[in-house]
Amino acid sequence: MQKIAMTTPIVEMDGDEMTRVIWKMLKDELILPFVELKTEYYDLGLKVRDETDDRITTDASNAIKKYGVGVKCATITPNAARVKEYDLKQMWKSPNGTIRSILDGTVFRTPILIDSIKPAVRTWKKPITIARHAYGDVYRAVEYRVEQPGKAELVFTDKGGNEISRQCIYEFDGAGVLQGMHNRDASIRSFAHACFQYALSVKQDLWFSTKDTISKQYDQTFKLLFEEIYEQAYRAAFEKAGITYFYTLIDDAVARVIRSEGGFVWACKNYDGDVMSDMVSTAFGSLAMMTSVLVSPDGNYEYEAAHGTVTRHYYKYLAGEETSTNPMATLFAWSGAFKKRGEMDGLADLQRFGESMEKAALQTLQDGVMTKDLVGLVEGETPKAVSTADFLKAVRERLERLL
Ligand code: NAP
Ligand code: MG
Repeated sequence: MQKIAMTTPIVEMDGDEMTRVIWKMLKDELILPFVELKTEYYDLGLKVRDETDDRITTDASNAIKKYGVGVKCATITPNAARVKEYDLKQMWKSPNGTIRSILDGTVFRTPILIDSIKPAVRTWKKPITIARHAYGDVYRAVEYRVEQPGKAELVFTDKGGNEISRQCIYEFDGAGVLQGMHNRDASIRSFAHACFQYALSVKQDLWFSTKDTISKQYDQTFKLLFEEIYEQAYRAAFEKAGITYFYTLIDDAVARVIRSEGGFVWACKNYDGDVMSDMVSTAFGSLAMMTSVLVSPDGNYEYEAAHGTVTRHYYKYLAGEETSTNPMATLFAWSGAFKKRGEMDGLADLQRFGESMEKAALQTLQDGVMTKDLVGLVEGETPKAVSTADFLKAVRERLERLL
């Protein structure tokens, strides 16, 4: 069989622990036999990040900007224990955070659904994608614990030192708490563009929700900027694609989401996205079945699994045990990258290959062959629990039949 050709490389970012092991297994079993793979390889494993003073992460991010498509393995975000374990020069920042700030991107998380795993919400039939604004609000807030009576004010001073605005927040007659937070129009605009573009690329409705009735400046700004960008840049394309942009209050959105069938993109402010993505992924089944894509406002795409490096399984693997770690989200990261690369470069075969990888993987689960994490979630059949290696072999058999 002739291997499928590529023209432009995909930026390949290797990672750590169990997912690094899966990365190689998956490439050997499902990709290299079928694709004349062209990647620009960056090893984001913790050792190389430390050796290069984390320059490798910046280089990889810039490469995504150059080529437009990247695929990333899960990586360790070091904490104090990791600094000791890997004898690190310093506690390097989260690679995902670095990539996100260089690409100025928005993260979209979508669950992979199969018939035999029923979502906890009975009405959900199609996946719900959460788009989380990953800048500002409470994550960049300044806080103060008030210990005595006194007055708190919100003061804005311009560059020349002139006081432009002063408002009383509260006159305390005892102890209490205070918080000051911000966001920037530029960041909100980027978020809006990424959401509209993503909704168009998956041809699904876009929902957006804030609490603008209560927050008449802050949340209202989010609502107005989204509206303005939609009218100026996306309304026509949405109408042509037969999809809609729908704004509603966050509490109304929550009620509608629960009653919905799914099948849309839900754009959320930073805190809402943090909370709702955990709720939605749990209600759909398992973190091991969550895919994640970072989309920049200028149209670069970085695909990955939403889960981490699965450390607990890695130690079992190191001890010589055969592990049953679920490679689905990593597989969908690769297939997503192939589909996007194929679409961008006009390579129908590559696009079809990405689709076939997904079909083969879903068929394997449909046939009841799955890793241990899913076995307890399945209803209406008796599944067969297999190791990661055997799962990938089962996917390969089905993939070969599809090609
Ligand atoms: P994790 O790697 O996501 O794993 C947490 C637990 O979830 C696992 O122990 C396992 O449960 C289950 N799980 C997750 N993915 C699975 C899969 N593919 N197959 C089967 N079970 C799976 O989170 P963590 O243990 O908190 O973090 C480990 C490391 O990953 C940390 O160093 C963290 O910094 C990093 N991390 C990286 C990313 C990223 O690169 N995007 C994201 C999150 C975390 P059982 O043990 O019960 O089987
Ligand atoms: Mg969360």
